Amino acid sequence: MADDMRCLQCNESQAAIRATQRLREPLHCGAVDYFGEAEWTAERHRFRDWTDRELIDGFGVKPEFVGLYRRVMSGYEIADEHSARPAPATPEGEQK
Ligand SMILES: [Zn+2]
Repeated sequence: MADDMRCLQCNESQAAIRATQRLREPLHCGAVDYFGEAEWTAERHRFRDWTDRELIDGFGVKPEFVGLYRRVMSGYEIADEHSARPAPATPEGEQK
């Protein structure tokens, strides 16, 4: 395993996250805006690639394009023509 693996969601390095966990002040997965307000947070950091099922059901990627988005960090990165949904989706987005 490479030491420079980064969280697919917040882009923190795994080494930095582990170091803060040892100090009992873990880095939470999320992003803050210019004013320091949380824009989003996730329950845990994520280091493995998305599966087909997560991309199709979670992000709304068309099955033939899942290979392009193994490490996508947000539904906004998915091109309209690759999405089965009309609007940008999130992993916890509504499902039919
Ligand atoms: Zn993270």
